Amino acid sequence: MNPTRCPYCAEEISPEAVVCPHCRSHIARFDTRSDPRTWHRDWPERLAGGVASAICHGVGLPLTAVRVGFVVLSFFHLGGAFLYAALWLFLPFRPGDESPLEQGLGWAKDAVRRLRTVGGPDTGGERPLDRMSGEPRA
Ligand SMILES: [Zn+2]
Repeated sequence: MNPTRCPYCAEEISPEAVVCPHCRSHIARFDTRSDPRTWHRDWPERLAGGVASAICHGVGLPLTAVRVGFVVLSFFHLGGAFLYAALWLFLPFRPGDESPLEQGLGWAKDAVRRLRTVGGPDTGGERPLDRMSGEPRA
């Protein structure tokens, strides 16, 4: 078994340890080894975007602690709000779904592809302009 580190005192402990033998901290539910790619926001206890419940299930922290953490962080330059928004962008709603960021990028890619092939919505059939020079493309 690969030894892991206690999240509180950083001493080496067994991965199955429930209580750290060095600092006596309870570490059973805290699991940073879960794969973040499996995280998602659609949990029954979600209130708003589901980011707090995703962290709660992903890392094993109590849901109330995660929510309070976001609120407290928001008092420091709105850090909690920005972090929540960023995680909302990166976390898919259901497992295996695309995240809102991936969906947005896919939509943007489609829009660019459409602009390139059609030449834009109001160019009236003219050649599309070169993005760098502003001249009509050859
Ligand atoms: Zn410890």
